[in-house]
Amino acid sequence: MARRTKIYEGKAKILYEGPEPGTIVQYFKDDATAFNAQKKDVIEGKGVLNNRLSEYFMTGLAQIGVPTHFIRRLNMREQLVRACEIVPLEVIVRNFAAGTMSKRLGIEEGTQLPRPIVEYCLKNDELGDPLVTEEHIAAFGWASQQDMDDILSLALRVNDYLSGLMYGVGIKLIDFKIEIGRVYENDYPRLIIADEISPDSCRLWDIATGQKLDKDVFRRDLGSLTDAYSEVARRLGVIPKSQVTKPTLIN
Ligand code: 5GP
Repeated sequence: MARRTKIYEGKAKILYEGPEPGTIVQYFKDDATAFNAQKKDVIEGKGVLNNRLSEYFMTGLAQIGVPTHFIRRLNMREQLVRACEIVPLEVIVRNFAAGTMSKRLGIEEGTQLPRPIVEYCLKNDELGDPLVTEEHIAAFGWASQQDMDDILSLALRVNDYLSGLMYGVGIKLIDFKIEIGRVYENDYPRLIIADEISPDSCRLWDIATGQKLDKDVFRRDLGSLTDAYSEVARRLGVIPKSQVTKPTLIN
């Protein structure tokens, strides 16, 4: 097989040049990192689960008219996506207080917010992805006012879709992070959902028990991350649990 050209390697994914112009192969690694890569581990099966779950969410979004970069899944760990310019912002939507919002504002984790709150962080690992305001974004030209209107609308549509989907399987969507890409169609720019949507980038709590089913299991040492992600996949009917557990030796 011809060697592929690696474009970029991040903490959880590798991007390779795709087979046709304007496409990229996104490979999901098993690596888990937290606290800006200060905590690291390899979690067997995580990449396979996130590939499948991101495919599931992106396909569902496309079906309700939310544009995404996803084209098709290629295999257990790879998917073909549209090449796009990444807007240098992490877009976070919160329904309940948790994580940095709880710390920053002293609100108990799990407190329902009066309405969904959208936050923006600058994508910059060296600075630890700092929270920025729309004033910063406009002044430094990271996105235009039209982009910001479109980003807010996309973020809230993703929130409605994901919240409803999760609620249907007994899971509360506490918050999530998305990334936005820009593509050009007939020379006109258009914003789409890029990167991934998976339990790596969401907070998901079981409605009945409050059990965490997301990357906080790894960040806070709460048990098996693959068990948590498999549970999300199993409830959504994405993957049977037997496909993600380790093979057992038969004597
Ligand atoms: P927080 O700001 O509370 O740390 O995170 C809010 C939400 O965004 C959580 O669901 C968290 O998983 C997600 N998030 C924030 N920053 C990142 C990041 O750099 N990578 C990933 N995968 N998710 C993030």
